[in-house]
Amino acid sequence: MLDLSNERTAYDRDHFFHPSTHMGTHARGESPTRVITGGEGVRITDSDGNTHVDAFAGLYCVNAGYGRTEIAEAIGKQAHDLAYYHSYVGHGTDASIELAKMIVDRAPDTMSRVYFGLSGSDANETNIKLIWFYNNARGRPEKKKIISRWRGYHGSGVMTGSLTGLHLFHNAFDLPRAPILHTLAPYYFRREDRSMSEEQFSQHCADALEAMILEEGPETVAAFIGEPLLGTGGIVPPPAGYWPKIQAVLDKYDILLVADEVVTGFGRTGSMFGSEHYGIKPDLITIAKGLTSAYAPLSGSIVSKRMWEGLVEGVDELGAFGHGWTYSAHPICAAAGVANLKLIDDLDLIANVREVGAHFRRALHDALAGHAHVGEVRGEGMIAAVEFVEDKDDRKFFEPGKKIGPQIAAALFERGVIGRAMPEGDILGFAPPFCLTKDDADLIVARTREAVAHVLG
Ligand code: PLP
Repeated sequence: MLDLSNERTAYDRDHFFHPSTHMGTHARGESPTRVITGGEGVRITDSDGNTHVDAFAGLYCVNAGYGRTEIAEAIGKQAHDLAYYHSYVGHGTDASIELAKMIVDRAPDTMSRVYFGLSGSDANETNIKLIWFYNNARGRPEKKKIISRWRGYHGSGVMTGSLTGLHLFHNAFDLPRAPILHTLAPYYFRREDRSMSEEQFSQHCADALEAMILEEGPETVAAFIGEPLLGTGGIVPPPAGYWPKIQAVLDKYDILLVADEVVTGFGRTGSMFGSEHYGIKPDLITIAKGLTSAYAPLSGSIVSKRMWEGLVEGVDELGAFGHGWTYSAHPICAAAGVANLKLIDDLDLIANVREVGAHFRRALHDALAGHAHVGEVRGEGMIAAVEFVEDKDDRKFFEPGKKIGPQIAAALFERGVIGRAMPEGDILGFAPPFCLTKDDADLIVARTREAVAHVLG
């Protein structure tokens, strides 16, 4: 191996094309290179020996926390026993079969089977193909459009980037592509008509959805996709009554519902799935991140019994499901998933999400809600956000060019805590590992208060 200790930064700038990074500032050395070398619990260490509390669990994925030997050992054992075999034409491994059963056992009881992928993006890509296959199998080839929401995040591919409703992921890529449409974000704090109650706003979102379906023609609309709790678009729990009202519209026009649980799946909201938490009855559930706590890349599309029956009926006419990845159900990743889900159960980490998550959100609210530039403190389970505004009474937002959110995230980083400046709006997000203690929650809140005071007074 190369000794990187001296040349690391130069090699990085010259050879590593980083995702979601400004190519120019990085290549010119105007933005920092950070090399992470270790992690334990909720803390990570970098190559300069600095330790930070990772209050965003990587990209809200290291749910079990860093340094879990149980998961590392399961990965090592699987690599020794059988590093790879594919899952095409009926093949499997003990790990992939065991994990499929563990997932369905934990999912809502209307769910039936898991199709494995590697990332949240490819799982949503699979979902689109499952939906199209399903409607072709049912003799409805015109029913193909998919409705997503502004501020939804569903991935970075061509189709999944189109599902995503954030401009950063569309601009300069000629997205979104047909047949993807976007409806209102369930973002009560940013509602236009401030006289509306939460229930009224939820009805307004459902009415807008119904109007879009009628305008497009219900016979052309196949599915609706949404995160139970809006994630990358701002960490926004749904307003009261939202999901039942949306569900009623979808049922009325025979439109499938995809719950994208890449962030909420396996405990983030305090329930095993966000669908249970908010009373959603999905036809497909997207899972990734928390499935392995990011110890290995693995995702899945959980298919409902109802949808499975439709797919099976069609397959004799349409032929085999001609869709697969070389690494679908990769045994090393599946072994990581089995060990991770067992660990979450054994340590009762979802109970900790509920207890410490509630403590954390309360403390964040108490520390910041009264600040002149804090518009809202919100969250659920172990996920939270603080939204900053220029004027609280008029709910006037800061000019995006001022980059208030990124400045606060940077000030927080200087104080030893990693939060995330969400991409649209001045929103500081938190999603710590589930093993967070109350002391560390208090530390995150104290440092956040200091960072906010540093930037906004
Ligand atoms: N869906 C949701 C809700 C996500 O938050 C993400 C990633 O953050 C994705 C899909 C895409 O997952 P990946 O980055 O693994 O492709």
